[in-house]
Amino acid sequence: MKNIKDIDLKNKRVIIRCDLNVPMSSGTISDSNRIIKCLNTLKYLLSNNCKIIILSHFGRIKHEEDKEKYSLKIVAKKLSEMMEYPVHFINSCYGNKTKEIVDSYPLKSIIMLENTRFMDLVDKQESHNYSELAKYWASLADIYINDAFGSSHREHASTAGICKYLPSAVGYLVKEEIENLKPLINIDKRPFTIFMGGAKVEDKLPIIKKLLPKCDYLLLGGGILNSFLKAINIEIYDSLVTEDPLIIRELKELYISYENKIILTKNYIVDDNKILDINIEGYKKYLNESNLIFINGTPGVFENDKFKKGTEDLLNYVKTLDAEVIVGGGDTVSAVKKMNLENEYKFVSSGGGATLEYIADGTLKALEWIDK
Ligand code: ADP
Ligand code: MG
Repeated sequence: MKNIKDIDLKNKRVIIRCDLNVPMSSGTISDSNRIIKCLNTLKYLLSNNCKIIILSHFGRIKHEEDKEKYSLKIVAKKLSEMMEYPVHFINSCYGNKTKEIVDSYPLKSIIMLENTRFMDLVDKQESHNYSELAKYWASLADIYINDAFGSSHREHASTAGICKYLPSAVGYLVKEEIENLKPLINIDKRPFTIFMGGAKVEDKLPIIKKLLPKCDYLLLGGGILNSFLKAINIEIYDSLVTEDPLIIRELKELYISYENKIILTKNYIVDDNKILDINIEGYKKYLNESNLIFINGTPGVFENDKFKKGTEDLLNYVKTLDAEVIVGGGDTVSAVKKMNLENEYKFVSSGGGATLEYIADGTLKALEWIDK
């Protein structure tokens, strides 16, 4: 797969897909990490005298009313501050007029188009990878760069289809993710232990099924633990659990097939009749033994101070080990940041679902479209 270093970008018009889907709280950006992660590639493009056209999605757009909340205008402003360079925001991402405006900017300009998912309001054109839309975006530039690792598990017009119409390569962020996640794909260190927590087992079950043959231990927390416990007939009160009996049956079968790998603690914190956190004590012996550890999903409801101990203990404990530790996932990384532990691990991945799919499959759907 080509990366940004493999192609001649000098004086070119480059359209770049970033992942600027930043978290918001009461109308302001609550965490700029995703913007920071793009700066490297953008600065490199500027230093090559490129005209830069930025595409990104932002939030979920289901109705016309969602547009106001998820305009990228506020992100363009923040990016401009961080780059210390003008970022020209265009309040549309499609059409002749938009093309005229984009075309009018000279080299060494940074232009940000409006949220790509606005195009989902008619026929889900972005999410369903409409070729007409991909072709339109391609018509604005000479080269396409994908630097949106966190969105590359999806084949959308802006992450996949566009590659058909332009020379393509990945940017520095994607390159760094791929290089750093390599140990989790060609597992060269064992025992390899995965801790998986988080809310919904439905989201993570397909990944769990792919990871079980690869790992040596799977330690569980969160709603996933609850569902496994239920599957083996342990009382979980009113805890968060999957309602789907087929999933429960599948979990039971998995547990029987991988009884020595799937480790379920019974040491948990119950409040208001719900399991809301775990005590990680019983997991330490597996972690101690491991040479490679991957953590995704929090052991408990860490957002609530009363139930953050399991998350804090786990994140603090693994940093004291000799094992190579890699952490990924939106909420998990926000816990890492809250605790100022970003530099304590071998790697902290910027992706959530994308990171999980990457380590399960060894590739991501959108990256398969990039020039070889
Ligand atoms: P990531 O975003 O890192 O992939 P997840 O979204 O899967 O992680 O998991 C984090 C979420 O899981 C948090 O919002 C947390 O409150 C929730 N969670 C963890 N344990 C429980 C639990 N026992 N019951 C309900 N929610 C839980
Ligand atoms: Mg999450």
